[in-house]
Amino acid sequence: MDETLYGRQLLKSDIPKSLRHVVDNDKQIKKVAGMSINGQFVICQRCGHKNHRSQCQTSTGYYCVYCINMGKVKSDAFLYRIPRKLKQAKRENCCEWKGELTKIQQRVANDLLTAYDNQTNHFVHAVTGAGKTEMLFPLIEKSLIDGKIIGIATPRIDVCLELFPRLQAAFPSINSNLLYGKSKQEFDGAPLVICTTHQLMRFFHYFDILVIDEADAFPYVNSAELQYATKNALVKKGMMVFLTATSNKNLENYQNTTRSVVSRRFHGRDLPVPNTFYCPKLSTQLRKGTLPKKLIQTIDKQTHPLILFFPDISLMLDSYNVLKKRWPDKQMGVVYASSKTREETVEKMRQGELDILLSTTILERGVTFHCISVMVVCADHRVFNRATLIQIAGRVGRSGDSAVGEVLFLHEGKTTAIKQAIKEIKQMNRRSTL
Ligand SMILES: [Zn+2]
Repeated sequence: MDETLYGRQLLKSDIPKSLRHVVDNDKQIKKVAGMSINGQFVICQRCGHKNHRSQCQTSTGYYCVYCINMGKVKSDAFLYRIPRKLKQAKRENCCEWKGELTKIQQRVANDLLTAYDNQTNHFVHAVTGAGKTEMLFPLIEKSLIDGKIIGIATPRIDVCLELFPRLQAAFPSINSNLLYGKSKQEFDGAPLVICTTHQLMRFFHYFDILVIDEADAFPYVNSAELQYATKNALVKKGMMVFLTATSNKNLENYQNTTRSVVSRRFHGRDLPVPNTFYCPKLSTQLRKGTLPKKLIQTIDKQTHPLILFFPDISLMLDSYNVLKKRWPDKQMGVVYASSKTREETVEKMRQGELDILLSTTILERGVTFHCISVMVVCADHRVFNRATLIQIAGRVGRSGDSAVGEVLFLHEGKTTAIKQAIKEIKQMNRRSTL
């Protein structure tokens, strides 16, 4: 059997042509029908989505509407579930990270090791900038030494892109894979996988430990399908670890789960509390090309690179043209999910080459920029829920130096989400670490 197939759940079209005869003749490989019919519904066996018959019918059967971007699952085709190699080699000490965990980080690292020993799941609520990735290193090392397979999955591509080089640097002797929709790398049987939560649909009972980083992010948090795929990707009795920067009752109440809370950033300073500004008819004015006073003042007096978050792409692009006209000398960039230059623009911002970056919520989390301020334009829009606003505020003041930017919310009326986000940030600042 080829290393690239172990532990996978694949459509025939996902399997290289040269290997298709192998999977057809191997008795250990389970072939399951892509979909099962239940009354008016057709249920996808890869993502668990309940498709209504009338919405997914073709001339030969049915297909799954939900996970079609991962390749079409059809009722008249099979999913190949390929068992993983029975024995994984034990490994030597492999963590080369030279940094030192703070006392608080060490406590969480120990909580994770205890959960691993006791075979419980674990939930880590650690404020933005607490250094969550480093807290995972002892667990990753211990599990690799024990010959386990560990996956770190996150709903956000940008988070994957930021995590992967850090993990490669920390575990240079371990083969690791980075998997997302357009990644150049293919899965090659690595014991350490960093991927988007969507990629978990292509695994079956592969991971001994699955860490969901930014588990409170869209689309994972509200997706029964991604959560179904996560369960399938994990071995029976495998360990789930959830990492989030906001409280989340559903995840905290996951079966057999212990919990750690970190209310301080690694450098010990408070989280920045957002300042709110009431701007009547803000979105209408912006669409007419009129900028709010607060925005003009902020840019005129700008001391830090600034990220402007917008609720939708069209309002953002309109505003970009207006801003460009008013401040032609400022270096500006725009990012959104389908933007072709997304990765380069984010990198430019990281390198300090941009004065102003306009973004949709795709940059709300996971990414770290040095010494920035953020402004949420139309913070009362429904896309800015409590978790999103907390995450956006958390982009500011992450590094250890004292130059701290500002967090500004422009709104046409304070929503519950705005009030709750500010309340949770203040609570975490007040709270002594548990
Ligand atoms: Zn599906």
